Amino acid sequence: MSEISKAYEPGTIERKWYDFWLERGYFTPEIDHQHKPFVIIMPPTNVTGELHQGHALTATLEDIMIRWHRMRGEPTLWLPGTDHAGIATQVVVERQLAGQGQTKDGVGREKFAELTWEWANKSRENIRRQHQLLGASCDWTRERFTLDEGPSKAVRTAFVSLFDKGLIYRGERMVNWCPRCRTALSDLEVEHKDITGYLYYIHYPLAQGKGFVTVATTRPETFFGDTAVAVNPQDKRYKKLIGKSVILPLIDKEIPIIADDAVDASFGTGALKITPAHDPTDFEIAQRHNLPLVDIMNPDATMSENAGPCRGLERFACRDKVLADLKDKGLMEKIEPYAHSVGHCGRCQTMIEPRVSLQWFVRTQPLAKGAIEVVKEGRVRLLPERFTKTYFDWMENIRDWCISRQLWWGHRIPVWYCRDCAGMTVSVDEPTACVHCGSRQLLQDPDVLDTWFSSALWPHSALGWPEDTEVLRYFYPGSVLETGYDILFFWVARMIMMGLEDTGEIPFHTVYLHGLIRDDSGAKMSKLRGNVISPSEAIGKYGVDALRFALTAGTSAGNDINVGKGKLESSRNFANKLWNASRFILQSLDANGLEAGALELQPKRMEDQWINSRLNRLIRSVTELMEAFQFGEAEQEVYDFVWSKFCDWYIEVAKIRLSSQSTPSPLPFLVDTLEKSLRLLHPCMPFITEELWQSLQQRLPHGSRTPASIMIAPYPVADDKAFAPEAERVMDSVIEIVRSIRNVRAQYKVKPDKLIEARVYTGELLSSLSAEAGMIETLAKVRPLTILGRQKRESTKDKDLVLVLKEAEVVVPLAGMVDRLAEEQRLVKESEEIKERIVQLKARLGNKAFLSKAPAQVVEKEKEKLALLEDKLKRLHQELSQLDSSSADS
Ligand SMILES: [Zn+2]
Ligand SMILES: [Zn+2]
Repeated sequence: MSEISKAYEPGTIERKWYDFWLERGYFTPEIDHQHKPFVIIMPPTNVTGELHQGHALTATLEDIMIRWHRMRGEPTLWLPGTDHAGIATQVVVERQLAGQGQTKDGVGREKFAELTWEWANKSRENIRRQHQLLGASCDWTRERFTLDEGPSKAVRTAFVSLFDKGLIYRGERMVNWCPRCRTALSDLEVEHKDITGYLYYIHYPLAQGKGFVTVATTRPETFFGDTAVAVNPQDKRYKKLIGKSVILPLIDKEIPIIADDAVDASFGTGALKITPAHDPTDFEIAQRHNLPLVDIMNPDATMSENAGPCRGLERFACRDKVLADLKDKGLMEKIEPYAHSVGHCGRCQTMIEPRVSLQWFVRTQPLAKGAIEVVKEGRVRLLPERFTKTYFDWMENIRDWCISRQLWWGHRIPVWYCRDCAGMTVSVDEPTACVHCGSRQLLQDPDVLDTWFSSALWPHSALGWPEDTEVLRYFYPGSVLETGYDILFFWVARMIMMGLEDTGEIPFHTVYLHGLIRDDSGAKMSKLRGNVISPSEAIGKYGVDALRFALTAGTSAGNDINVGKGKLESSRNFANKLWNASRFILQSLDANGLEAGALELQPKRMEDQWINSRLNRLIRSVTELMEAFQFGEAEQEVYDFVWSKFCDWYIEVAKIRLSSQSTPSPLPFLVDTLEKSLRLLHPCMPFITEELWQSLQQRLPHGSRTPASIMIAPYPVADDKAFAPEAERVMDSVIEIVRSIRNVRAQYKVKPDKLIEARVYTGELLSSLSAEAGMIETLAKVRPLTILGRQKRESTKDKDLVLVLKEAEVVVPLAGMVDRLAEEQRLVKESEEIKERIVQLKARLGNKAFLSKAPAQVVEKEKEKLALLEDKLKRLHQELSQLDSSSADS
């Protein structure tokens, strides 16, 4: 039998048990048509580098769900994967090249792809290793990468199908353009920064007669692309000018003055220069008025031939030249400082150029319809529910989705252009001839797809779609999708749309959205603040189980999570506490042994009934919480039970019984409570629970009949027959009495081994508490202890300390140790505190938002709390008046 080490050393047990589980194949489910499977498809991790705490949180929450369902006997699949992460990965590799003085254009597309694959493979290996460190029990035999042949074929199939239905088109649209990355970006990839720039007031001379119109602009260099000046039709200042035209300075081009409701008359001069190819609002105005688009820039944001005298200049150099030339000609009216928000590339921080370009789009409105419906009908549920409204708002106003990217890393767009007839051939497999004219002169579109396009297909593509396989039929649709709320639209909404479109089914029934990770004080983690604790650092210092517990205990869906040093330390303390308690129980087993059949529990003693009852209540509550996705609350309850009820009270009482060899032995209850607590904790703290559980099993008489691992042992089920309300009431009262006497001892600095006198007055519990007098004496170090009925209560003497408890009053004579004034002050202070708590509770119970949101049993509990406090306050007041009257007597 292996000795359990004195100190808990997480590092030595973690790898051992992970390999044990992996070798036995516990992570790979069997297809069993008798049972409905539980399935989570892991959000594919970007192959850009190290895992951060957000990844650790995702892995922990999903592993908790997975391990819990597996212990409930369901065929459980957790499919891991990685995402090629288009632009993010490409920029990382470009940076590496730049470090060696090279560029992607310099090495060429083929070599660049080779280098990026090398990076991606290394990164995937790293991600896999880190997930294993975290204890993730995912099925590595089914691991997928978005660029694998299967998911790639899914991408081409989905593209072709949407194209054939007219839901994909190619068109000139305004996109966010990064001139350095030379690609279109999604809104998610753009960071907005507040910038103090200038507003330039420029004269545009009228084409007919004298005079001019002054336009105000932050970007004078774009004026070469102007195709109109627009004013608001209601603006009296310009009414006469509508329909006339102006001359663009420097290039002498005539453009019309038009009226459009979108013009804000209060901005600048109320006359807006319209540059349709470089501004989203202008683009829309131009569409309404059939204005031409004039693109004045090259993809790298140098000026194109349409910029006349500035051709070839970089955009900001062009601005300087334009301003100088306008000034020379006397066309600059004034310049004012102006603060505005400007988009920057999220990957390289270059200023975004809004630019019209030829891109591929998905027509999303028809797809959004179904995705709205399934959420309305409750077939897909968002947690927390408050995100449902945001989801509808966004889906109802959805815009077409630009899916092409001018990158080299990603899925190539499956469209080929014919050199002979210019027709397009759209095909899942590489075509050999043009579908229109049969020519073999085909050229594939150079662009790749937005990385979110393949992510949108992930729930079905990772399971093998478009092939019709048994795996896909059995495991799709999945059960839960877990991710951060920040990508609800970019990812979750698109998965729902594409899942419905490709398979006719929802991809999952529940979406669990987690919050952001912050430090102990609630501040965002950032390198600048120096409060970042990486998962590997936390694992090294505190152990995986402590990290997992810190990330999830006490948290709930959608709320931000504070995980700093403080929480990690207290989580490790919990692991230590569990370890030490287990060690005591194991050593007691070694010393005393356990007879066969001892674990068919027959609680005779009050405290045995109590712990057994509390344990079963805990199991019931935890099960309900887990079913309601309240993992954080479930963990908190197990924590409170193990730390306080089990370790602080039951084990302490059991130690006394074991040392005096009294019968019946508490060992069966120690073992049973520990064993079930370990199983309850396993989904969150897999390593320490496996280590302790294995050590325990070795020492039990029925060892050979149990499963080989805690992770395939059944999750505990509550036994309602174990509930013992009377024992709970008595033990709760014992605990309160002992605690109150211990507080007094601490308050008056009584030496630990000194016995003090106490009298307990109680009502209905008189006989039960009298039966436990020995326990109270030992735990509170009290002698003599007198337990009497309330009616025997004499008026308080001068030097008596009175403690008013839930079901009893404790009188501690402290002759010579405490004066009456201090005692009165103490009673007043305590009743003030209780009054304050009553006010808080009443406010809470009067709060409509709380009443409508909180579960009924929580409201019930709060009401009970209030009643108890009010009763206690009444009795404190009685004590105070007695104190008054006794002082009047003397
Ligand atoms: Zn960029
Ligand atoms: Zn052709």
